[in-house]
Amino acid sequence: MVKAILHVNSRNVVIVAAHPDDEVLGCGGTISKLIKSGHRVILLYLSSGDSQEERREKEALRVCDFFQISSHYFLRLKGPSFKVSSPNIQKVIRIFKLITPTLVYINHDQESDYEHRIAFQLVTESYWRYNHQVSFEKRAMGIVLYEVHRLLLTHNLVEDISAEMDTKMKAMSLYHSQLKSTRWDLAIKGLNQYRGRLHNQMKFAEVFQVKILNSILPYLHY
Ligand SMILES: [Zn+2]
Repeated sequence: MVKAILHVNSRNVVIVAAHPDDEVLGCGGTISKLIKSGHRVILLYLSSGDSQEERREKEALRVCDFFQISSHYFLRLKGPSFKVSSPNIQKVIRIFKLITPTLVYINHDQESDYEHRIAFQLVTESYWRYNHQVSFEKRAMGIVLYEVHRLLLTHNLVEDISAEMDTKMKAMSLYHSQLKSTRWDLAIKGLNQYRGRLHNQMKFAEVFQVKILNSILPYLHY
């Protein structure tokens, strides 16, 4: 079980979200930990939603401010344009080249939401091509999958977010538009509590599947 990802020399961590709020639901506690540990966290929103785009982007900007995110990008894919296509891959690669990410977080490939699965495919394909195009020292080390609507079937990284849960809840409360019909904040708190209690009695945890696409192991310190 990999438990020490935060000790990776991961200067630039990109959290890619299919939609604004996925990043907080899946990795809010980890984002807070990464920033506290001195990493540079960048948010990339693939879609701003099919409706209320302006409102959702405003909420996302407040979340970026709240976490003190280094930089953020909106690709504004929507409807039929939210697909794995050459132009979309080029858009993601262009941003990766600006950022030179060490690690890339993305929704996992078994999610119930169709756009989450597309997001996984689009980012994975972009990741491979980016690594192929840049010099060795600029290559990203791995992809980290996070869970939102459907649980990860397997995971190999557990982040203890007990000390970050309040921060995560405050960040989630900024997504007013998403909390009106469903209390996602309470749902994710329950999931993080479940994940935590199953692992060494942590109060709250986020779990991930780390895809070691390049050799990440030499950089891990247990
Ligand atoms: Zn989503």
